[in-house]
Amino acid sequence: MAIGSRLLEQLSEPLEVAGHQLSLGASIGVAVHPRDGDHADDLVRRADVAMYAAKEAGRGRVEAFRHELARDLGESVGIEHELRLGIQRGEFDVHYQPEVDLKSGEIVGVEALVRWTSPSRGPVPPSRFIPIAEATGLILPLGEHVLRAACRQTADWRRRGLLPPGFVTWVNVSARQLAGTGMTALVDAALEEAGLAPGQLGLEVTETAIVAKGAASEQARAELQRLHEWGVRLAVDDFGTGFSSLGQLRHFPVDVIKVDRMFVQGVGTDAKDTAITANVISLAHALGLIAIAEGIESEEQLASMRRLGCDQAQGYVFARPAPAAEIEALLAGGQPLTEAA
Ligand code: C2E
Ligand code: CA
Ligand code: CA
Repeated sequence: MAIGSRLLEQLSEPLEVAGHQLSLGASIGVAVHPRDGDHADDLVRRADVAMYAAKEAGRGRVEAFRHELARDLGESVGIEHELRLGIQRGEFDVHYQPEVDLKSGEIVGVEALVRWTSPSRGPVPPSRFIPIAEATGLILPLGEHVLRAACRQTADWRRRGLLPPGFVTWVNVSARQLAGTGMTALVDAALEEAGLAPGQLGLEVTETAIVAKGAASEQARAELQRLHEWGVRLAVDDFGTGFSSLGQLRHFPVDVIKVDRMFVQGVGTDAKDTAITANVISLAHALGLIAIAEGIESEEQLASMRRLGCDQAQGYVFARPAPAAEIEALLAGGQPLTEAA
């Protein structure tokens, strides 16, 4: 542990590289022979577990292996390994959930949502593996897969005449994917390969990814700005959960605000949720943005969202996320998913 601390200290000394001050971060895991294992493999694996614990505890720390850590983290480490393999083996599918215009009742877009069926675990919910994919960087190949699949699918629907004008396929993008400079090139390649116009693709980013201070967010904003200039639509996802204000979005080229399910749930029954939702919708409109409510489950919630003037909605009340073939049936059927207002 003492050696680990000394290493961290040495590593934290700023370095000068080509005139820039750089500082390194590290997390260190320690396993001790023979207490923690007899074989090199076991020791390295347990040092790895301790390292993950150090990262989770806030980085820049030294942790020694303990059996409780293995219990807590073993699963995450296991999932990481399976995620990696799963990406290589093509175990990830994309499902789509319709977005409905509340005036016409028509489907005006879909949200692409990744689905993983692991051969050993069965279906794993995104809430379980997306955070691990983000922490490990696996979100990069995974996000690329989803983006390409969604573009190909949308182009195919369009060629077959199934899409109304203005239809947008929305893809979730993690902050991590925007942190580098690769996103613009990736989107360009995905659109090109599919033969899709930029205006038929939308990216959903969380407010924290774009309003935060710092170089990474600066970079993310620049990437999104460029994509928006090409015509790619932008949405702020989970709006209201990140404590930012619409004011901060004033100078940012977003088209859509998605009102988080957390508030939508209580609309019509909980006075505070209703007030927050009503305000988000009217502020969105004041800024010339479209408001989409997510997670609408009941007719009552739907009626309330209509009353509040929400533009579009998405939720189990219309349709659950489903494989492309099922969405196709809805698109081809052409009947509204709810009565026109
Ligand atoms: P999100 O972007 O907020 O996506 C909406 C979530 O709400 C989806 O959960 C969807 O299935 C669920 N949902 C839709 N309608 C209803 C409803 O009426 N009631 C309830 N209770 N839930 C509803 P899902 O598919 O489990 O995804 C969870 C989260 O995982 C997403 O939240 C998103 O943050 C992330 N995610 C999913 N796919 C991707 C992806 O391809 N890339 C990235 N970066 N994140 C993704
Ligand atoms: Ca989303
Ligand atoms: Ca959301």
